Amino acid sequence: MSNKNRRTVIAGNWKMNKTPAEAVALIKDIRAEIDGKDTSGCEVVACVPFVDLAVVLDACKGSAIKVGAENVHWEKNGAYTGEISADMLKEIGVEYVIIGHSERRQYFGETDETVNLRVKAALAAGLKVILCVGELLAQREQGITAEVVALQTKVALQGVSADELKNVIIAYEPVWAIGTGRTATSEQADEVCGVIRAVVAGLYSDAAAEALTIQYGGSMNAKNAAELLAMPNVDGGLIGGASLKAPDFAVIINAAQ
Ligand code: PEP
Repeated sequence: MSNKNRRTVIAGNWKMNKTPAEAVALIKDIRAEIDGKDTSGCEVVACVPFVDLAVVLDACKGSAIKVGAENVHWEKNGAYTGEISADMLKEIGVEYVIIGHSERRQYFGETDETVNLRVKAALAAGLKVILCVGELLAQREQGITAEVVALQTKVALQGVSADELKNVIIAYEPVWAIGTGRTATSEQADEVCGVIRAVVAGLYSDAAAEALTIQYGGSMNAKNAAELLAMPNVDGGLIGGASLKAPDFAVIINAAQ
């Protein structure tokens, strides 16, 4: 399949980095790199810690940068100490939310089922979802990558309509490549993104799968981005470490044009 008709999305995942003041400084640095340049070839998103959202939304005004959160709870409100609802994000102007990141699954007990609840709540509130799926190193070595990623995708999308799917991006993030400096080869990334697209075709339709943006994430950086982004099934990147360095993030955005 060709990726010519799909939206390319380059999203930074800042994780638990940057205080509000540091966040504003980083947005300024990114804007210094990209403001006034043609970035129409891709959408640029900064997914930032909850406490940074308000100041980052303000700092991004008048730029091409959209703002996302890094997680969301599935209930509308209630006694969930420490949690943030989709309506809260929506009301302050957040557009995107990352759901199901492997660090949430690994350190905070998230399951495919809670990922599904979060996806549905975010979509119902009008947020765009960056849904993360990906295999552990042991699962790749066992040769079950396709099965793992297919199951994660199917459960996460249960009860999501074809119309709602238009607001979903899937990020294929092999867990062994996240923050390790060990990137999937462009062939590996393309192959698994193709598996995800085939799963979505089976769940919805060929047209829905063809229209779906599928990102690769896992040690994407200024050096390897162009090769990864050139693959037919790779429609963008979810970028951790390199999104914290404005010049590197700008190189990745340029590679996506
Ligand atoms: C991520 O956190 O989604 C990620 C891909 O991180 P890194 O780019 O640092 O591997």
